[in-house]
Amino acid sequence: MLSKREILKKIEEDCRKANLPLKESATNLVFGKGNPEADIMFIGEAAGHNEDEQGLPFVGAAGKNLDKLLQKVGLTIDDVYIANILKYRPPKNRNPLPEEIRAHAPWLIEQIKQMKPKVICSLGNYATKFFFANGNVDDMEKMPGITQVHGKVKVIDFLGLKIKLIPLFHPAAIIYKRELIELWERDMEIVKSEIKQKKLS
Ligand code: URA
Repeated sequence: MLSKREILKKIEEDCRKANLPLKESATNLVFGKGNPEADIMFIGEAAGHNEDEQGLPFVGAAGKNLDKLLQKVGLTIDDVYIANILKYRPPKNRNPLPEEIRAHAPWLIEQIKQMKPKVICSLGNYATKFFFANGNVDDMEKMPGITQVHGKVKVIDFLGLKIKLIPLFHPAAIIYKRELIELWERDMEIVKSEIKQKKLS
């Protein structure tokens, strides 16, 4: 039987061959990183310049913040899996278009289906709205924004999987809005206690 790592590698290769929007303008596919056997996934929006260059999510300034966040709750990259909704960088880091989310999301959904995580931390507005809308792109606009729901644990039924969703501010937002640091650290305490509970269960 194939391991989750082998299965995800195969899905990544299929994704690389797929004719996705944004592929032409991007340098590299940014599929995911971390431990495919992990119970916790962190999901962002889309690659930026550094991620596109290296083919890995969250390796730029936002990634440095995410690393700090993980450290704070006692996690390393080996304890988590990190991916984005979009698998290619939008030009000049513009916001994703609904049709791009629609085309790319099935690859994220496949990652989740295979990994079956117990906890998903959605990073920022797009990822949070995506899960609140149950992956239905047309409903995303109607969903509450991150300012309203950050740090509030919500149990969701996603693809028949019971998952604890923990919406967090996007690690890039902290760079520009220093006043979010305190809220972010408080949210981290919630992530910490959820992880502890999970370890006990
Ligand atoms: N922002 C994201 O949402 N994802 C990345 O990979 C990098 C920055």
